[in-house]
Amino acid sequence: MNKKLFVLSGSSGVGKGTVLKGFLEKNPDFMLSISCTTRPPRPGEIDGVNYFFISKNEFENCIKENKFLEWAEFAGNFYGTKKKYINQCLEEGKNVILEIDTQGALQVKKQMPEAVLIFVCPPSYEALENRLRGRHTEDEATIQKRLEQVKKEIERSKKFDYQIVNDRLEDAISRLEDVVNGEIKNA
Ligand code: ADP
Ligand code: 5GP
Repeated sequence: MNKKLFVLSGSSGVGKGTVLKGFLEKNPDFMLSISCTTRPPRPGEIDGVNYFFISKNEFENCIKENKFLEWAEFAGNFYGTKKKYINQCLEEGKNVILEIDTQGALQVKKQMPEAVLIFVCPPSYEALENRLRGRHTEDEATIQKRLEQVKKEIERSKKFDYQIVNDRLEDAISRLEDVVNGEIKNA
């Protein structure tokens, strides 16, 4: 039985990872796709758990060999989702969630129009900036590069199926559960 593919996107620091963690704790039967990236690991990040951390050369080989369902350059690093893992999960009858940037989300929708795209918004631009800075994981130049993406991300989000405001965390998690459960019921 084929299952659904959900894509969660939003600006860096909006809280996608935090919302998703809360969602997956309550819904452990969903598979979270692990992406490949050329960005160096942050302290505490583990290869094969948070990402598959690969070199630019390896990433380029995967592109040449057509191994990615989607890939994008985001704020100076490359990120991509391997086709093999996603197809395997869907064929095994598991619902899959991708946490990827807006460029990648639109590529997925082109190839799999049945995929459900969900955009997570901040309550305000100031809140987004405070969260991104408050995480203390990026230097100032990287924070600036990430904030420069916001306009384009909002523009792309118009093509998404749902928008969720991450103001109070618990509300955002509940809203994500409502969206996902509604889509599964109607599948
Ligand atoms: P993203 O995955 O979108 O880049 P994170 O999940 O890493 O963002 O969250 C960025 C920062 O914002 C983290 O420090 C996180 O604890 C905080 N955060 C996430 N959601 C909320 C929220 N609803 N209210 C306040 N802070 C939040
Ligand atoms: P970070 O470096 O903060 O982990 O991620 C930066 C951005 O890359 C986020 O918007 C995140 O969702 C996105 N991202 C993570 N994995 C992928 C992927 O496989 N493909 C694409 N297109 N974006 C990804």
